Amino acid sequence: MDTILVVNAGSSSVKFQVFSIEGDGKLQRQIKGQMDGIGTRPRLRASGADGSPLADRAYPIEAVPDVPVAMGIAGDWLRNELRIIPIAVGHRVVHGGPDYDRPVLIDHGVVARLERLIALAPLHQPHNLATIRSVLAKFPTLPQVACFDTAFHRTHDAMADYYAIPHQLHAEGVRRYGFHGLSYEYIASTLPHVAPEVANGRVIVAHLGNGASMVALKDGRSVESTMGFTALDGLPMGTRPGQIDPGVVLYLISEKGMSAAAVQDFLYRDCGLKGLSGISNDMRELEASDDPRAILAIDYFLYRISLNAGMLAAALQGLDAFVFTAGIGEGSVRIRAGVAERLGWLGVALDPAENSRQARRISRSDSRVPVYVVPTDEELMIARHTLSLLSSRPSANPNHARVS
Ligand code: ADP
Repeated sequence: MDTILVVNAGSSSVKFQVFSIEGDGKLQRQIKGQMDGIGTRPRLRASGADGSPLADRAYPIEAVPDVPVAMGIAGDWLRNELRIIPIAVGHRVVHGGPDYDRPVLIDHGVVARLERLIALAPLHQPHNLATIRSVLAKFPTLPQVACFDTAFHRTHDAMADYYAIPHQLHAEGVRRYGFHGLSYEYIASTLPHVAPEVANGRVIVAHLGNGASMVALKDGRSVESTMGFTALDGLPMGTRPGQIDPGVVLYLISEKGMSAAAVQDFLYRDCGLKGLSGISNDMRELEASDDPRAILAIDYFLYRISLNAGMLAAALQGLDAFVFTAGIGEGSVRIRAGVAERLGWLGVALDPAENSRQARRISRSDSRVPVYVVPTDEELMIARHTLSLLSSRPSANPNHARVS
């Protein structure tokens, strides 16, 4: 069985999935796993496509010092115990910079170019690249593909990606990139099947998870996004504030004496729903609470989504459909209802019964703007890209790439 391994390496965990390539070229998810607790309590967990457990193992802290070692342990487990030897590896890479507008086959030159982008995504890019480098060293002939969170947004007009700062900084890379691109690309690829009548129109997609953003799609392409230079901008998130006056950052530094590292930690870990509620970053916990601060955090989340929807509708000069996706977007009846209510002026009319039963289309039949819930699948998108780049190589027989 030919398989593709999809890897998403974070700072203290590495998530992986295995897809088989079926006879008709379709990809079938076989395994989902992760090695987490790196540096604290390392643990390998994996399950089959049907959710059946395949592994749950703890490791001593010193046995898993970093993310590449964690990936090595997971790879050995796949190879030695499940006899899975992937023909290629697809990596989620957070930053492709201004130039990468699509996935790329990795070689040493690509790694060097991606290393130059570390300063733009210091929390994620080093872990993505460390894992790529270790696979490259261990299996030099195994094809690896980098799939970028930023690439899908490179269809923006230049205007959309400027900040009003001197040109030199823009040239250095201080510009708006947008993130969650693999999720949006997957949704854009699904819309022609789910909602063919609007797939080529003006669509806002709200990716509402722990990280949250929205994109404006025109004819399936990104024209504007709520995230910018980093994944801090735009909507409030689990622990990130979303849009915030840079003056607040200056205040934290000059009046509170915080260092750059402390401010970074604060903005990524202590703000958003967690900071505002003082209770949790987890939407399910907030929804279950009747504490006024939990209610405030939810209302703020809804308010900011509705403001940003107005901005994206302006970028699109109108709106033909609205799509919810990711953990909160796919799971929360209350958030979808709250957003829809605030978008009535744009022509959204929710069908509460369809919303409650988690239907694919949750708007009334007479809603001028139809509203959909579409589950996202970033890993499948990475596997698709990897397979497609593999097939387009000069020696297109995937068996040539097999490692033994
Ligand atoms: P990540 O950005 O980590 O991938 P997810 O897309 O998994 O995040 O989303 C996680 C968020 O989704 C959490 O806040 C969680 O509480 C929320 N969530 C998941 N299911 C539901 C649900 N049924 N109702 C409300 N919130 C939900």
